[in-house]
Amino acid sequence: PTEEYENLRRRIYSNTKEIWYYINHELSKLMTEDIKVEKIQAILDQVADRKRSLLSDQQKLPELDGYHEWRQNEAANVSDLIQRRLKYLQNPPDCREARKVICNLNKGCGFGCQLHHIVYCLIFAYATERTLILNSKGWRYNTKGWDYVFEPISDSCTTAYDDKVMPWPVRYDAKVVSLPFIDSISQKPKFLPLAIPKDLAHRIVRFNGDPASWWIGQMLKYILKPRSSMQKAINETIAKMNFKSPIVGVHIRRTDKVGTEAAFHHIHEYMTHVKDYYDQLELTRVVDVRRVYLATDDANVLEDARKKYPEYEVVGDASIARTAATHRRYTPQSLAGLLLDLRMLSACDYLVCTFSSQVGRVAYEIMQTNRVDASESFFSLDDIYYFGGQNAHDRRAVMSHTTQGKEDISFQVGDLIGVAGNHWNGYGRGTNKRTNLNGLIPWYKTADHLVLYPFPEYKQVPQ
Ligand code: GDP
Repeated sequence: PTEEYENLRRRIYSNTKEIWYYINHELSKLMTEDIKVEKIQAILDQVADRKRSLLSDQQKLPELDGYHEWRQNEAANVSDLIQRRLKYLQNPPDCREARKVICNLNKGCGFGCQLHHIVYCLIFAYATERTLILNSKGWRYNTKGWDYVFEPISDSCTTAYDDKVMPWPVRYDAKVVSLPFIDSISQKPKFLPLAIPKDLAHRIVRFNGDPASWWIGQMLKYILKPRSSMQKAINETIAKMNFKSPIVGVHIRRTDKVGTEAAFHHIHEYMTHVKDYYDQLELTRVVDVRRVYLATDDANVLEDARKKYPEYEVVGDASIARTAATHRRYTPQSLAGLLLDLRMLSACDYLVCTFSSQVGRVAYEIMQTNRVDASESFFSLDDIYYFGGQNAHDRRAVMSHTTQGKEDISFQVGDLIGVAGNHWNGYGRGTNKRTNLNGLIPWYKTADHLVLYPFPEYKQVPQ
């Protein structure tokens, strides 16, 4: 390791102690003084500043540890391998003879939800070595079908001919099966998210901090290729926007979602995280303009943001937001707007959103494909990352914990804890699978439990 790397590593260690010396001293003092709100605010500001400095230093570590280029190459190589395997699966030498899985694009939901439906179908196809056939006639976003907007998912195999189609699950190995919606499967196959392929897992974990969403992103990378006319229209709109790094993407999902599937979040909640991002960035570089790309389905939000935050440059298109509103949602025009928003959000340096929205999750999944590791480049105001219909998501205890008698639960090293979410206050909620107790868990004593599944290894495709 270089001298620079070693110095940085020691600085982080030492400054972690410094943050404790500071908090310990100030809070001990508060016990003997009468507590003033201003004093507490001053301590919070100090701690925030020290935290930003620590995180900023830690971000530099992987750039200096000598493996920076290696990680970039490895991420590109594994991605390329998966894309070639998918291409191979989707273009069998003899289409008529190939085993197939049919996916109907008739799910009555938004585009993010439909994309995830195709992702689930493609993972199923990859796991069972069946060519995926997409049925999209009469599709709600374009009645002419998927291929009218996007490149087809196969160049050579797009029909099941007259073969009998058996609805999955089947009792025998039928040649052609059709898939139900993921939500209505009672016995979920183990290969569904958040599982990742065992043969690639040990490569992926070495460059990416969230392999499950990276793997899902790879499916999107294969599926989501706008046709040249659509791509051209998107590029022309982008050219008119002042989209320049540094820029933080903000996705604000309102209209029909609020009060039904998600809570309302004030613009201030999003902007707190944007400010924190820029305050940290300014420790290492000059930021002339604090830019935000704002995507939303509520045009009023854009206007509101520009009025309330004049110190930020808010990039975004009110006409896109208007076509995204509930009553205009399922048109080719609104789809074009959403594709643009997704492209921009995923190109941002950082993303602030709500993972309760599939649009926020898709933006993050694409982000995972356009850099080596996006796992620390977002903040979700509500849910932790998930895939709708996924198998259980567990964390494993890496330290033991004895309940403090409040709402927290005890666990031992090695216990699996099914997690419901993180409260972003140092605690999350979960169920200890050994004791069946449900309650709060100190998040730092647990680590994400990655599920590896023995997917086929596609040995026919060159490594
Ligand atoms: P969810 O309902 O937010 O989980 O995501 P879905 O994709 O299933 O449905 C929401 C739909 O609302 C999207 O598909 C879009 O049509 C529209 N929408 C939501 N947020 C945005 C946005 O930021 N920009 C645009 N253009 N459309 C959006």
